[in-house]
Amino acid sequence: MMPKLIDTHAHLEEIDDLKKALEEAREAGVEAVIAVGQGPQSNRELLDICPRYKDILPIYPAMGVHPGYVEGCDPEDALSFIEENIKDIVALGEIGLDYWYKPARKEGPGRQLQNLVFEKQLDMAKRYDKPVVVHSRGAWRACLEMLSRYDIKEAEFHWYSGPQDVLEELLERGYCISATPAAEYSPEHKSAIARAPLEKIFLETDSPVRYKPAEGEYFSRPKDVFRTLKAVAEIKKISEDQIAQVCNNSSMEFFGLQK
Ligand SMILES: [Zn+2]
Repeated sequence: MMPKLIDTHAHLEEIDDLKKALEEAREAGVEAVIAVGQGPQSNRELLDICPRYKDILPIYPAMGVHPGYVEGCDPEDALSFIEENIKDIVALGEIGLDYWYKPARKEGPGRQLQNLVFEKQLDMAKRYDKPVVVHSRGAWRACLEMLSRYDIKEAEFHWYSGPQDVLEELLERGYCISATPAAEYSPEHKSAIARAPLEKIFLETDSPVRYKPAEGEYFSRPKDVFRTLKAVAEIKKISEDQIAQVCNNSSMEFFGLQK
């Protein structure tokens, strides 16, 4: 029997012909999607998207201000919108730090702004007891330190491709990582998946991100969570069925979804 999967991370508001993408996903065996916001506009759009397509698939919203969206947004306004909707979201995300973005490459106001917005969201996650979905590119250790400082219990390092020592520490703290279709070819991502225990890995697509496997690049859709599954199965040398079962269970628990 075909396994059922949750795509735990998709940016639905950016997907072309979303209705068709969700229908394809359902046909492929996707049973739910976590729709992850990135900033004031996408957080608002999710309120419309989630109920509109509920007859095709259950869609659960996460809201957050992504480090790439802190410039030019009004943080107070963005954060109060998230707080107003806090009861209806499954996580704070996508939040975090990205020190590869030009405004934050060096110490200075750009980096300070990212840190500030991340901290305010961690504070909110703590106050409302919500898990966090963390974008940590180029700032893996800084993210881990910030999560520790706010005593966050449940955090997912989305698409983890950082250094091994930070991975060891985040796993020790009980945090998890997620796998994307880059698990087919990215050496850093593959080694993180090889190291992390299966119950600490969630499956996702980050769609519509463009992936670049050897056979040709493509824009991802939620159905591509099956590519993630296959890639993780190859790395772990465990059957796809078993991986689907373990990863679905742990991600449902993390996001507080009903079984
Ligand atoms: Zn994302």
